[in-house]
Amino acid sequence: MDAELSSPSNSSANDPANPAETTAKCPHCGTAMPANAAFCPGCGWSMTPLPAADRAAAAVAYFTFIPAAVLLFLPAFRNRRFVRFHAWQSVLLWAAFFVLTVAALLLSNVAAAMLLLLFGILASLAMLFLWMVLSLKAWQGERFELPLFGKLAARMK
Ligand SMILES: [Zn+2]
Repeated sequence: MDAELSSPSNSSANDPANPAETTAKCPHCGTAMPANAAFCPGCGWSMTPLPAADRAAAAVAYFTFIPAAVLLFLPAFRNRRFVRFHAWQSVLLWAAFFVLTVAALLLSNVAAAMLLLLFGILASLAMLFLWMVLSLKAWQGERFELPLFGKLAARMK
């Protein structure tokens, strides 16, 4: 995933326009950046060694949005941009997931309600039609058998 984010122009090894003393090169993808950059602009690789606690916290941040929200509120991580980035990314990702899930549920409920309404209208119309036809047949003295119901009715004594 990291490699896909870096364009070929970014990963060109030597850029003569940039003096070596003001630029650093990402050990992960080769992107040139200012020497004081904390993170690679190409792939997000941390240019300064990150404490294991930060990396662990950032990894845990993706286990649903709950640990991410907790991390964002913890004073200990107030200045840990790496952790806060992943926490925010997790919150946004989970928020999008919930919004899409709710939207899908609502849409399916609306679709189900529409189908139910349509079925109800059609069934009511069919019953109205049958009622009129069967009443008329009976009134006219005709033994008019419906496909299934007529056979069953004929067996009833
Ligand atoms: Zn990089």
